[in-house]
Amino acid sequence: MVRAGRLGAIVLAGLTCGVPARASMVINIVSSGADALTGNALAVAQNAANAWASLFSNDITINVQMSFADLGSGVLGSASTAETTLSYSQVYGSLRAEAGQSGKGALANLPGNSTLLNTTLPSGYSVANTGGVPNLTLATADAKALGYSVGVASDGTIEMAKSYYSGWASGDTTGAFDYESVVIHEIGHVLGFISSEDTVDYDLQQNNPSAIFLTPLDLLRFSGGLPGDFMNTLRDLSPTTGAQVLSDGVVAYSVCTGAYYGSGCQASHWTDTSPAIGVMQYALPGGTVQGITSADIWAMEMIGYDLAVPEPGTVVFLATGLAVLAILRRRRSPRSV
Ligand SMILES: [Zn+2]
Repeated sequence: MVRAGRLGAIVLAGLTCGVPARASMVINIVSSGADALTGNALAVAQNAANAWASLFSNDITINVQMSFADLGSGVLGSASTAETTLSYSQVYGSLRAEAGQSGKGALANLPGNSTLLNTTLPSGYSVANTGGVPNLTLATADAKALGYSVGVASDGTIEMAKSYYSGWASGDTTGAFDYESVVIHEIGHVLGFISSEDTVDYDLQQNNPSAIFLTPLDLLRFSGGLPGDFMNTLRDLSPTTGAQVLSDGVVAYSVCTGAYYGSGCQASHWTDTSPAIGVMQYALPGGTVQGITSADIWAMEMIGYDLAVPEPGTVVFLATGLAVLAILRRRRSPRSV
């Protein structure tokens, strides 16, 4: 039996033990309207937000709108991430400034403009740029983490499937799909766990090649396994080139490569494995509680989040369910500039 809410309590307990008070991130869950989260559903969603926020020391406030909604068959939750566009020259400087932090040394070796402009893409695509300097798209939450002022009321919208959770109030999801795990996952997208390879994949499906705005996470995306040269090995955002990883040249984690033309799951996710790479895996097995792992934390650190305390180590719960349902990332809403 899996009781929703248990994981958040474990994560928080592990992080607060013996740690002095300090500035940390705030993630506010806001819900209103006819399909608003209320009672325990809202409280556990806020626990999920706190599980992320308590990990990082960035002195920022992130606002997330949440509600229940009718989602597609087999979909537990969905996130739309608010985004903003920044020049790579800005992001390059902001990320490089963090290279001195423990575990972030690779940020001193970010690629040059020409390497990014040569990112592997299907025929007809290009990397969006202004005068040879790539234009990046960032989750507004991530832009805040990097120190940019972003004038948005909401950093993202999360919808939880009515068919699975609208009657959920007692906190007991025996035999079903853990509510809190799904909220933690969706918030991860809002924080910036997004890849524009999903845009490439969608545009391929629409036969509509476009200029692609790379995300900070895409700066870590390579074919196969560990890149030979983190700075100069070309990034790969093509759904059709086979296996891909996110890597800093030291570690490498397998990622999905696209729902339509890639590996069958949206590229903004870890590949589904057992045990899971992290909460940002594509699908959640039934009866499973999946928490934030060291891989999830690594990814967030590499795009600009600063660890508040030593990593708690991998938090993985065994998968016992047979059924697996997808946790989808909704195709992104229009960029906020
Ligand atoms: Zn997802």
